[in-house]
Amino acid sequence: MPPNIKYPPDSDLRRLLRFEPDSGSIWLGDQRMVLMHTTALAALRQDLMNSVGADHARRILTRMGYASGLSDAEYAIRQRPNDSMESQFLVGPQLHMLEGAARVTPVKLSFDVATGKFEGEFRWDHSWEAYAHQQKFGVVDQPACWVLLGYASGYTSAFMGKLILFKETRCGACGDDHCLIVGKPIEEWSDGEAHRMYFTDDSLMKKMEALQSQVEALKSSIEPEQPGGKLIGKSSAFRQAYALMEKAAKTQVTVLLTGETGVGKERFARALHELSPRSSAPFVAVNCAALPAELIEAELFGVEKGAYTGAHAARAGRFERAHGGTLLLDEVGDLPLPAQAKLLRVLQEGEVERVGAEVTRQVNVRLVAATNVDLEKAVREGRFRQDLWYRLNVYPICLPPLRERLADVAPLANAMLARFCSLHDKRVTGFAERAMQALEQHAWPGNVRELENLVERGVILACQGGMIEVEHLFPHLTQTAQTGVDASGQLAELPSAQDDELSARILDSGSSLDDVEARVLNHAVTRAGGNLSQAARLLGLSRAQLAYRQKRSQERGQAAPQATV
Ligand SMILES: [Zn+2]
Repeated sequence: MPPNIKYPPDSDLRRLLRFEPDSGSIWLGDQRMVLMHTTALAALRQDLMNSVGADHARRILTRMGYASGLSDAEYAIRQRPNDSMESQFLVGPQLHMLEGAARVTPVKLSFDVATGKFEGEFRWDHSWEAYAHQQKFGVVDQPACWVLLGYASGYTSAFMGKLILFKETRCGACGDDHCLIVGKPIEEWSDGEAHRMYFTDDSLMKKMEALQSQVEALKSSIEPEQPGGKLIGKSSAFRQAYALMEKAAKTQVTVLLTGETGVGKERFARALHELSPRSSAPFVAVNCAALPAELIEAELFGVEKGAYTGAHAARAGRFERAHGGTLLLDEVGDLPLPAQAKLLRVLQEGEVERVGAEVTRQVNVRLVAATNVDLEKAVREGRFRQDLWYRLNVYPICLPPLRERLADVAPLANAMLARFCSLHDKRVTGFAERAMQALEQHAWPGNVRELENLVERGVILACQGGMIEVEHLFPHLTQTAQTGVDASGQLAELPSAQDDELSARILDSGSSLDDVEARVLNHAVTRAGGNLSQAARLLGLSRAQLAYRQKRSQERGQAAPQATV
């Protein structure tokens, strides 16, 4: 040991160590210890390396040592309260020796807790860890005393109140005859940030789960879709609609899907197609509201060359393209009346006539119509043909809005999360609890589509490897706000549960507001030991205000304690 650094006697630390074989325990002060075989620790190390790889094994073992170092730092001040700072700090190396880690010799030590300056160099002889590592893996290239280094970093960081990183510049595991460690604040190491990962809690399981769900999402995007497999829902409202659809799928019946915008009518129609005997034939979807009125007939029924200016070539319509399969006419309520007449004819005759054609063509198409408007009302108002409505309304299925199937929000959101993670090449581990709660309490005017938009936004805003927080979904909700549904069913900030609970208890007690006030005043005065000025401060009142309120409640017959000051 250099002459300037001397260990104080360690009798104070030896006294901490107590073996109690009768009770089957070993103690270091008030902390329970255990004697373990280094061969067992070596076996654990080998298993860790094999199962999670060297980096994660190193991280786990470093954190284990770090935890020990943090625990031992308690004894520094407790055991040597009146000693010099140096003597207090040396509790760490001395305990480390007592615990059998290695023989620790300070080479250099200078620090100042107030300014956060730290520079330390220690020599380790007979490191148990270098020995154990070498036994399992032979002589290695990289230092391997991870538990010991974790201890040095944990102890010193706790002592200094900031992260001090120790690194080995020599190690017995690399064939040196001793280890040498150097410690300084993490920001003073040029590669300090790269070492921070060894101290952080990084769940490998969560990473694996996230990867797993990404693999699932990727798989489902490349594999042929399972019949109806893309539909997610366990709520009874959803299951009812699904059961109706399943029954219709096996038949040729024309299906009318109704429901609000964004409830997933196209997805439903696709599932119907996939469950039907037509699943190997095309599924064609047309959004009638998205097509200009003058083109809609050509789009649906096809066009012959030269039928109108711009019709340079003959073209099959969507009906023909869906031959043998299923045609979805979305927003069918927006179809202009002439197109409605033509559609009715196709449904009646089973044949289409291209615009400008002399002949008709046979088509075999299962029609699914979808609408978010009340077609019956449109019929009454003359905007929709009654005979067409009868044709379409043979087998109506009403898809429930999301707010009536809130039980499906979580499974839907999780499936979307996996899909968007793979789409945006992002690793997001899930929804924070508060975020999921906010999703489950939202009113969802835009239904599943709105949920989809929010989840995609959340995936983009969340940190790589992190979770989707409530702010990523609903930016207007601050971190501290309690989110809930207000009387109008909207997501809003609510008083905290604690406030609610207190108010509820007061109401349940049957006390009047005056009673409550008198009791709170009395309690404040008692707590202030009768000092009225102090009681007034506790209540956020002036002394005069307190006196006035006390007098008033006394007049009402409530007893107020007499002030002693
Ligand atoms: Zn070493």
